[in-house]
Amino acid sequence: MAIRRILTVDNAADLAVLKKKSVPVETVTDEHRALMDDMLETMYAAPGIGLAAVQVGEPLRIIVMDLARDGEDRAPRYFVNPEIIEKNDNLAPYEEGCLSVPEIYETVERPDQVHIRYLDYNGHQVDEAADGLYAVCIQHEMDHLEGVLFIDHLSRLKRDRAITKVKKAARAA
Ligand code: ZN
Repeated sequence: MAIRRILTVDNAADLAVLKKKSVPVETVTDEHRALMDDMLETMYAAPGIGLAAVQVGEPLRIIVMDLARDGEDRAPRYFVNPEIIEKNDNLAPYEEGCLSVPEIYETVERPDQVHIRYLDYNGHQVDEAADGLYAVCIQHEMDHLEGVLFIDHLSRLKRDRAITKVKKAARAA
């Protein structure tokens, strides 16, 4: 396992990759599992609660997540080729952040419940309902697979301000 570099929006080359649409995985192989292991380690080290493969420069439809709270046992989740089968009409606001947009937190509204289908770490199909933080996180991560960042849901003014802030922080570091 290895910690990978997380792409961030202040870097033009990184941003170009983050804007890419990720491609589906044909079959889940050991290579994909190695990537998922690296992604999880990278996410824990950051620390974060979700990470899409494109954020470490691999535009594949793969996501890792762990929603365990501080003090709880780790509960890693792996999603390959996730799809939203159904979503609730009811929108709920949540203050989101993103490892590719460091230190920026803004409220985004998303359906408060979604039904998802995906392949797990072993390539088995799972059908599941997600609500609460799980629903927020999976929709945020699935946006990454389409090249969409959470700041793309904000007004242009707020988005530009967020990117400027990240750039300034990167220069100061
Ligand atoms: Zn993100």
